[in-house]
Amino acid sequence: MRTHDYLLVGGGIVGACLAEELARTGASVTVLDAGREAGHATRKAAGVAVPSFRYLDRSDFYQWLCSGQERLYRDIRRLQPAHGEFSVASPILRALRTADAQAYGDRLNAAGAGEWIDSADLPAVAPGMKLPTDRHYLLDPHGLMVDGGRYLEAVRRQCLAAGVTWHQDTTVRALTEDASGVEAVTDNGTLRADRVVLTTGAWSGGPLAPGLPVYPQRGQLVQLETAEKLPCIFSSAFYLAPGVDGRVIVGATEEDTGFHEQCTAGGIGRLLMFAGAALPALADAAPVELRAGLRPATRTGFPLTGRIPGRSRTYVAAGHAGHGLLSARISAEGMAAGLTADDWDALPEEFCPTATSITTHEEGSVV
Ligand SMILES: Cc1cc2nc3c(=O)[nH]c(=O)nc-3n(C[C@H](O)[C@H](O)[C@H](O)COP(=O)(O)OP(=O)(O)OC[C@H]3O[C@@H](n4cnc5c(N)ncnc54)[C@H](O)[C@@H]3O)c2cc1C
Repeated sequence: MRTHDYLLVGGGIVGACLAEELARTGASVTVLDAGREAGHATRKAAGVAVPSFRYLDRSDFYQWLCSGQERLYRDIRRLQPAHGEFSVASPILRALRTADAQAYGDRLNAAGAGEWIDSADLPAVAPGMKLPTDRHYLLDPHGLMVDGGRYLEAVRRQCLAAGVTWHQDTTVRALTEDASGVEAVTDNGTLRADRVVLTTGAWSGGPLAPGLPVYPQRGQLVQLETAEKLPCIFSSAFYLAPGVDGRVIVGATEEDTGFHEQCTAGGIGRLLMFAGAALPALADAAPVELRAGLRPATRTGFPLTGRIPGRSRTYVAAGHAGHGLLSARISAEGMAAGLTADDWDALPEEFCPTATSITTHEEGSVV
């Protein structure tokens, strides 16, 4: 049986970017994905590709996400000419509560996160929008939207051109490590690899690595067809954002409901209430698509990237929660450096799966 250098289990944006980085080094790489189409969360994502202020308290992580945005811009410049448009630039207007504006104001100013907008100037910045006056508004001209499905398809095509083998409709059922490699049992046969990386998104805590602390966080969103042109991405409790194809995206809920990925009246209702309150003209818009998807979340809020404790040859790159489109490339660069040169410095220490956080397994056991 042929031994591949790397098997990546999961072909979402995290697996695709990592496959491309590893293939660049000359390694033989195979991606196995359970779905009909590659990528679950990746195809469901809203696509707001800016670092969230919720991470401002963890300055290293916030900085890492800012660097992720630079890498994403680089991907856009590199991939769009060959594979078509998958992004749209748009300013982003963020509404902050007074307490948050006071707590984070200095850091936001130091980070160059945007320009504070006086409420008298809001009608010029966000025409047609009805924005609460008890908020503080920060306008960043460098907002960005990315269509996850199209971005993934562009990276997947790069992978194929670089010699990556890619199988859809192939679920990996079990992994067994021995001294010389890892055996992967799939629905379509058995493969061997020197090393395996779980890029299994929300399923990363499943049977292939029980106890790995990644869980599914449901996100629901609505796409609206409308003649209204959004002047900016508007981010508050939820967000309104211009999609790459001109629709308005209203997102997204954050729900801890296990692997139930259906939309609910309550979730969609809250999004539509928010949209209508922020931009009243959207009352006439047609909801053309409702989506629910499962983000790969972790309780710490950090991704998990590195070797799985108790395993010698099995790694994980998952847990990118609501910023996976933004951070897939920088995460893949760090993982590839770790895997190929044992240089893990580019990944913040907090991302390392710790021995205490998961159940360990004996080498050679079926996992
Ligand atoms: C509603 C919603 C809104 C979002 N909005 C944004 C946003 O605005 N900005 C942003 O940056 N991010 C956003 N995200 C998050 C982003 O989509 C994810 O962080 C990112 O797509 C995760 O990529 P992934 O490759 O880890 O997971 P996925 O794309 O889910 O890919 C994992 C793949 O692994 C496969 N798999 C699982 N188990 C197995 C197995 N045993 N064998 C074979 N294959 C397997 C699955 O089939 C799947 O295709 C959003 C997500 C959702 C759901």
